[in-house]
Amino acid sequence: MRIADNVLVAGARVAGAACADVLLSRGAAVTVYDREDSERMRALAARGATCVVAADFDPALLNGVEQVVLSPGFPPHHPIAKAASDAGIEAFSEPELAWRLREPGAASWLAVTGTNGKTTTTTMLAAMLEQAGLRTAAVGNIGVPLVHTANGPFDVLAVELSSHQLHWSSELAPTAGAVLNLAPDHLDWHGSFDAYAEAKAAVWRGGRAVANLDDPSVVALAKHTDAEVTGFTLNHPERGQFGVALGFLVDYTGPEPVQICSVDDVHPAGWHNVANALAAAALARLAGVSHADIGDALRKYVPEPHRNVTLVEHAGVTWVDDSKATNPHAAAAALASYDSIVWVAGGQLKGVDVEGLIAQYAPKMRGAVLIGQDRALVAEALARHAPGLPVVVLDGRDDAVMTEVAAHAAALAEPGDTVLLSPAGASYDMFTSYAHRGDAFAAAARALIEGEAE
Ligand code: ADP
Repeated sequence: MRIADNVLVAGARVAGAACADVLLSRGAAVTVYDREDSERMRALAARGATCVVAADFDPALLNGVEQVVLSPGFPPHHPIAKAASDAGIEAFSEPELAWRLREPGAASWLAVTGTNGKTTTTTMLAAMLEQAGLRTAAVGNIGVPLVHTANGPFDVLAVELSSHQLHWSSELAPTAGAVLNLAPDHLDWHGSFDAYAEAKAAVWRGGRAVANLDDPSVVALAKHTDAEVTGFTLNHPERGQFGVALGFLVDYTGPEPVQICSVDDVHPAGWHNVANALAAAALARLAGVSHADIGDALRKYVPEPHRNVTLVEHAGVTWVDDSKATNPHAAAAALASYDSIVWVAGGQLKGVDVEGLIAQYAPKMRGAVLIGQDRALVAEALARHAPGLPVVVLDGRDDAVMTEVAAHAAALAEPGDTVLLSPAGASYDMFTSYAHRGDAFAAAARALIEGEAE
């Protein structure tokens, strides 16, 4: 039974609603459960779904249900997941449903996962496939449901997959999959780092693996896969690998190394983005894209917002929005990219330790401005590792606090410094999303600078 006739969809945001929509079109009996009512719920009810809004999940909802589609917000320890498991009911994610609904001749999938760099790599990959004249789109965790695109007019899809989506999968098997890196994140969801890593390895189920050779956790994971592995590294590549030599990205999977483009052609700047570009190149090569097309695509690539983006330069100070850095591993990539930094950080750390990050990068900091739920944890770590560092801790609970952030950061910064919003935590304590947080920071920085210019 690949897709059943009676399905419960848990969570009615973009992906869940898309699943319910597709299942209804196929004539299935669909129950949709969410904690909150919404326009989407009402639209699904109008189409015949049984919509249930309740703070707590009632196990009776599973009566007669043969399969459950779980949104990323439902961890394995959630009552629905447990009840389904106890009752022997299969549970899976939106991409798994999309995979099962693929029709003969549907587009192949090249998939990307990892703690950080997924969206950047997926959009780089889509740009490369498009440059080669293939019909493609960047889909999946990036915000475009696969159930709506898997049978669309595409040759090959660039698919971003999260650990949550991969955890709830069993058949989904992309033609090739890349694991970019592995660092502690979402530990409260998965329960342990090993469980998190294991979930990511599902991206290799199709038998072709692209793996980051510079990341020991990815290398360890690759040791246990049956898939054929192509590695990438920021070092000189050995035969069979992608890497960097003499300032060029190089494909050495053939008999001779082939230069793809210069390191300077990759943007946003930073070695982490060179690694992303190598991963995308390795996947694109598996789809037959030429080296010339890969190089052209990287030169033309338009970066996604809120990822290490320079907003404005004023009085010798550069203001950078890296609001998408929602864990310490991502913040480390940005902190490594600048010399003297006023660090704007905080938010929800999700149970992840910031000690190592701060021990390593505090010496580059001129000062820090901290906001959000876990600001005290960050402040304590800074006090331990950089006792003399000026640290401003702000208690504001809404986006207006960014005006204060900008004023304090400007006061701390000296010419040549970078004011870097790279929070190392999630944004939902104070903002609707990382984009909202980044926009609020950008608006406050610009207002401050315009005010000074008057
Ligand atoms: P994801 O989709 O995995 O969240 P993004 O491409 O949106 O990844 O980038 C998320 C954050 O991680 C940004 O702050 C970005 O600067 C940083 N980042 C991007 N690529 C990497 C990488 N390879 N290693 C570490 N950090 C990265």
